[in-house]
Amino acid sequence: MPNYPQEIAKIKVNKTGAVVSLHKPLLLLLTIADVINGHANNFAFKDIESQLKELLGKYGLKNTKTLTPAYPFVYLASSPTLWKCSIERSALKSQKSFSRAEVKKANAQFDAGFFQFLQNTEQARGVVWQILNAYWPEAYHEDILRDLGIDGVMQQFVLNERLKLPRGRLFVEEVLDSYERQCAICSQSIRLGDALIGIDACHVKPIQHFGDDHITNGIALCKIHHWALDRGAISISENRALLISPKLNGNRINEFFHEFANKDIFAPRNNSNQLNEKNTEYHRKFIFAGG
Ligand SMILES: [Zn+2]
Repeated sequence: MPNYPQEIAKIKVNKTGAVVSLHKPLLLLLTIADVINGHANNFAFKDIESQLKELLGKYGLKNTKTLTPAYPFVYLASSPTLWKCSIERSALKSQKSFSRAEVKKANAQFDAGFFQFLQNTEQARGVVWQILNAYWPEAYHEDILRDLGIDGVMQQFVLNERLKLPRGRLFVEEVLDSYERQCAICSQSIRLGDALIGIDACHVKPIQHFGDDHITNGIALCKIHHWALDRGAISISENRALLISPKLNGNRINEFFHEFANKDIFAPRNNSNQLNEKNTEYHRKFIFAGG
């Protein structure tokens, strides 16, 4: 029997050194969630097209202009130990495109062995966690699981697994120290006694997108600004000013966000630890919900 977690890890292939594709992971999450909820091992493209398209819009990379659910549906078959599709990939390659009508009729299945593997609920949950954790920062996890309809069955599992994650202690200490233990946007530094209770060391280019643990990829932010950065509600300009997504809305948005719009974020103590523009540029391009 193949080692399925390893087979899944193999789809995280980064050929360009820049961007990870989130299409295949979203298709896998959607169909595995269906299996957890009792779906048989047969997926008709027309049945999952609209939900997959919606997931791509919400959780895919922000530079993805065309949301084409057909591509992962067919191309995931390049991992034959996981997925079989009624449309041949080789046919696609030779034609460079394929007709809509043909795709509308397409069907796919998990490989029989992988489907058997997913019948074990613990194993299925493990795979969902593996994919979530490999491709999205924590700020996305709850929303994705809720949209997939498996937030209830995954809740305890995720809490347990999160405790096992190795924390990058050095990165956290360096970043917090460099920003004087304050949010680089709003300067919040609330403590309970001596303990800092609301400030995180955040990655600008997420580790899930091959961002590094170097201090020039790190910034200290309060919880609200941390999650806003991870979700692309805010970003950082070339001149290190705060950018706010025009899509952001809700109560008290002025005091939490617009008050700081276009103002410089705080600089780290040592100028050589300034954020690397390559990382902020990546964030603006692929994560920020701009325009
Ligand atoms: Zn803040």
